[in-house]
Amino acid sequence: MLTEKPASWKFELETPELGNPEAVTYLHAEAETGQFDGIFYDGMRFSFEGPVIVDAEGRWIDSDLSVSLKISATFSTPCSRCLEPSRIEILNDFLYLYSLRKKESPEESSEDGNFHEVQVSRWQRFFDISDHVWESIIVSLPGKVLCSADCKGLCPQCGRPLRNGDCGCSAKELDPRLEKLLGIKIEETKE
Ligand SMILES: [Zn+2]
Ligand SMILES: [Zn+2]
Repeated sequence: MLTEKPASWKFELETPELGNPEAVTYLHAEAETGQFDGIFYDGMRFSFEGPVIVDAEGRWIDSDLSVSLKISATFSTPCSRCLEPSRIEILNDFLYLYSLRKKESPEESSEDGNFHEVQVSRWQRFFDISDHVWESIIVSLPGKVLCSADCKGLCPQCGRPLRNGDCGCSAKELDPRLEKLLGIKIEETKE
């Protein structure tokens, strides 16, 4: 499971011709994911269901280089309620603005969170945008995934998925050992 960007991922976007506002450069790449199980992030496991598709476009906006990035990926992850493997698709756009100007705060980004400033010391022929790709994937991962909007989760007593119908348990007769596991606090009644 990946928790950091794979070392083998390298995506380089060519810098458009300096001083030419009409110049546009493109990058289309597929990040190979076959050798990785997936991403482990924020307590959740996201297994790759194919390559991560990266599309980037570079153009000048005045004296800054705007890099727009489109990320597309499919993952399988356990449903947050019933643990059934669920497919999620990520399709997100991000914007990075490369600038020679010094910023006041290095982590500053606009309020919508999809626009990031990157300070560079000089213009290069190519910029490696693989860190942006990784960052964009991570922020696109949902904090909670449901197999269906009305997933009923698992029976607290027998652990069977409730979507399969009534498991025969009465929800009120909880095994006290299971209560502990579930972290439910129920007042003990002594007889
Ligand atoms: Zn579910
Ligand atoms: Zn049950």
